[in-house]
Amino acid sequence: MKTIIIGAGFAGLAAGIKLKENFLIIEKDKRPGGLCKSETKDGFVFDYTGHFLHLRDKKIEKFVLENSTCQLNKITRHAFIYSKGVYTGYPYQINNYGLPAETIAENLTGFIRTSLVKNPKQENFKQWILNTLGEGIAKNFMVPYNSKLWKYPLDKMTVKWLGRFVPTTTLDEIMNGILPKAKTDTGYNAAFYYPETGGIEAVIKDFYAKVKDKVKLGETVIKIDTKAKKVITDKGEYIYETLINTMNLKSFMKIASGLAGSKLAKKLKATSVYNLNIGYKGTAPKDKHWVYVPEKDFVFYRVGFPHNVAPKNVPQECGAVFAEVAFRGALPTGLDKKITSGLIKMGILKNETVIISKLPMFLKEAYVIYDKYREVKLPVIMAELKGKDILSIGRWGAWEYSSMEDAIMQGFEVAEKK
Ligand SMILES: Cc1cc2nc3c(=O)[nH]c(=O)nc-3n(C[C@H](O)[C@H](O)[C@H](O)COP(=O)(O)OP(=O)(O)OC[C@H]3O[C@@H](n4cnc5c(N)ncnc54)[C@H](O)[C@@H]3O)c2cc1C
Repeated sequence: MKTIIIGAGFAGLAAGIKLKENFLIIEKDKRPGGLCKSETKDGFVFDYTGHFLHLRDKKIEKFVLENSTCQLNKITRHAFIYSKGVYTGYPYQINNYGLPAETIAENLTGFIRTSLVKNPKQENFKQWILNTLGEGIAKNFMVPYNSKLWKYPLDKMTVKWLGRFVPTTTLDEIMNGILPKAKTDTGYNAAFYYPETGGIEAVIKDFYAKVKDKVKLGETVIKIDTKAKKVITDKGEYIYETLINTMNLKSFMKIASGLAGSKLAKKLKATSVYNLNIGYKGTAPKDKHWVYVPEKDFVFYRVGFPHNVAPKNVPQECGAVFAEVAFRGALPTGLDKKITSGLIKMGILKNETVIISKLPMFLKEAYVIYDKYREVKLPVIMAELKGKDILSIGRWGAWEYSSMEDAIMQGFEVAEKK
């Protein structure tokens, strides 16, 4: 076989679609999709936390729309922040209307002070926050929220990854955001696509349909002999000319022989996420897709409402909420209780709300941590792999903070370059 692809998530499937022939995809799960599978329980469809398809590249958008048999709806984002007991629009920095006056004053004066500093230092993420957005926004949103999400010291994180993921702002925008008419359509994800039914897996199914006769499901890669260019699975062996890897890079480096980078990969870091999905009687809230929750009193960093994104994914007269808790190391105990009490405190659930379904999900690796180590060592690992005709792509193959669109794009690009 000319090309072996490990993994049938978006990256692997996209690579196969573009290659068209002389390739084989090996996927350990019985279903394709990787992180983008959806589970149905008690009439509710749950994704592995919110999975919203943001398409900023016109070519990818065209491909996805033209090749989808599922109905993909384009939805304008309704995202919020919950802090100081109120909901404000997203992004936080330009939607201060509704916050207590003293919080607005802190945010505003902090930003003005910062903007007066010439050539501010931005050597780490914390410095970037303080010197770009100011002390007030740092204290009231950016530092607590990001500490909760990354579970890693912000002053040990780098800044190159921020790009589209963390919106910056101007004084004019901040001033406008203090007024009632908030501007909420900024940022990389102002609108998104999502299937009418079936969850995000509906899009995966359309990708899979195009290559399915060249996908081996339920077969796990257990060893890679990089010298003999051989992939060994629990069911067979395959010789390749080029290997496209989309499985977790750390796991890949563990099972690949003869690579100096295997030692380096051990210290790459990521957070884990525990995701509790709850289906309940009642349709509140009606106006929100998801909410960022920065304050320490709440164990989750984000909650979202599938019934407002795809009403057919819940039974009639029902709603659903997903809560995401980041952690590193062992799964903290007592999370379900803390999540439920947090949801009650935010007014999302009530003590008397009838819970119909609960589905916990566990994402061992969820967010790549961008520390100095990654910045220096990852390019070394990637260069060694490339030298051995191994192209490692996708969120976990490339060990990066990236989206479904990025995974598709990388799959296409890697196939086109061959
Ligand atoms: C909490 C969270 C929320 C997210 N929300 C969004 C969002 O709203 N919008 C968005 O665009 N993106 C979102 N993403 C990102 C998105 O999930 C990824 O970018 C995308 O799924 C990556 O696809 P992939 O093909 O690179 O990897 P994966 O989906 O991880 O696919 C890798 C595949 O490799 C297989 N595999 C692993 N090991 C082996 C082995 N040994 N042998 C054979 N197969 C193997 C796996 O089973 C898997 O199917 C989110 C991610 C997380 C963690």
